[in-house]
Amino acid sequence: MSATFTFPPLDARLDASHADIRDAVRDLCSHYPDEYWRKVDEARAFPDDFVGALTAAGWLAAMIPEEYGGSGLGLAEASVVLEEVNRCGGNSGAVHGQMYNMGTLLRHGSEAQKRALLPKIAAGELRLQSMGVTEPTTGTDTSRLKTTAVKQGDRYVVNGQKVWISRVRHSDYMILLARTTPREQCAKKTDGMSIFLVDLREAVGKGLTVRPIPNMVNHETNELFFDNLEIPAENLIGEEGRGFRYILDGLNAERTLIAAECIGDGYWFIDRATAYARDRVVFDRPIGQNQGVQFPLAEAYMEIEAANLMRWRACAQFDAGLPCGPAANMAKHLAAKASWEAANACLQTHGGFGFACEYDVERKFRETRLYQVAPISTNLILSYVAEHLLELPRSF
Ligand SMILES: Cc1cc2nc3c(=O)[nH]c(=O)nc-3n(C[C@H](O)[C@H](O)[C@H](O)COP(=O)(O)OP(=O)(O)OC[C@H]3O[C@@H](n4cnc5c(N)ncnc54)[C@H](O)[C@@H]3O)c2cc1C
Repeated sequence: MSATFTFPPLDARLDASHADIRDAVRDLCSHYPDEYWRKVDEARAFPDDFVGALTAAGWLAAMIPEEYGGSGLGLAEASVVLEEVNRCGGNSGAVHGQMYNMGTLLRHGSEAQKRALLPKIAAGELRLQSMGVTEPTTGTDTSRLKTTAVKQGDRYVVNGQKVWISRVRHSDYMILLARTTPREQCAKKTDGMSIFLVDLREAVGKGLTVRPIPNMVNHETNELFFDNLEIPAENLIGEEGRGFRYILDGLNAERTLIAAECIGDGYWFIDRATAYARDRVVFDRPIGQNQGVQFPLAEAYMEIEAANLMRWRACAQFDAGLPCGPAANMAKHLAAKASWEAANACLQTHGGFGFACEYDVERKFRETRLYQVAPISTNLILSYVAEHLLELPRSF
């Protein structure tokens, strides 16, 4: 018996089980069309209206359990929200911090911290959009970070510097990673670091200086300078010295969510490129009739579909409470690579018009390029896979 397989339209090919979420987020995003994002980008502004609407609709509280006022959804559903924002031409970079930072508080915070913050975050009254890890002199080598938090009575006193810390100017709280025990005194180099809730409304100007970093992708990101910043001791999250481990849990969620954003970008590039390739006529035929134009798009599309499978695996493992480091890292890597390949193919398909701001391709091209570097660079994922999955000798 022979069966004929016909692909449904691109939209219907997306996971139907999340159709309600997709429809609702798309509906919201339809009020923030290309022109909105283009203007925000040109003005190097923050998409306040969009973030306000997403918050008011409850989407940023997706992963907050119902007992704290959220919707109690999983990482899979949260990832669909961010995927759709990017697929509709927007940029989830303005909001994604809230999804995974909240998880760190949920898993490791005290009941008092959760009761104080989570219902207000769920209601949109407070924002927990920032996480301060990276430092200018130590970069990816997190265990060598130099920012210290020293306990003095009922406070910790913080000194040091961070770089590339995002959304600080649009957040009320930040999760900060700092050293509480010198590295030389720790059994393991990743011991002796702790995480804290920093109330940015209290801290800025009183020990914390924020210096914006203008950048290629209009990402609200900053240098932070800590000069005897005092944090109440009760703002320590979990146990002192275990902060690196706590942060890692959140990073798996972050990587999976970023993978979903890249998948959204990837579909956006393929949609735009194929539409243009069908319409643009050169040498008396649509450019999409040329295999030289078709093949890079077909290749990129396959890469996106394949990366998407790994994204769903990471979501399923995370939501089942299983270890998901390998899947989360691989999903982020594959999806970032696929969206970049799609971006390149889309730009090339548009020829000169790909460079014109009004087509939005160059904006999305810049935006999706970020994910090869942040939140973790491609080389670091490759070395993680080599060392932890292939059991090759550690390279650094
Ligand atoms: C727009 C933006 C937003 C960001 N937001 C945040 C944020 O909110 N919070 C936060 O904490 N950080 C944030 N970051 C920082 C980001 O996570 C880091 O930039 C990223 O992890 C890379 O670190 P680095 O820039 O210090 O690069 P480095 O560590 O200096 O590395 C530079 C290059 O060398 C490579 N490299 C380094 N060591 C090795 C090695 N052993 N083997 C092979 N290659 C190696 C890296 O892969 C990279 O390509 C952001 C960055 C950007 C650009």
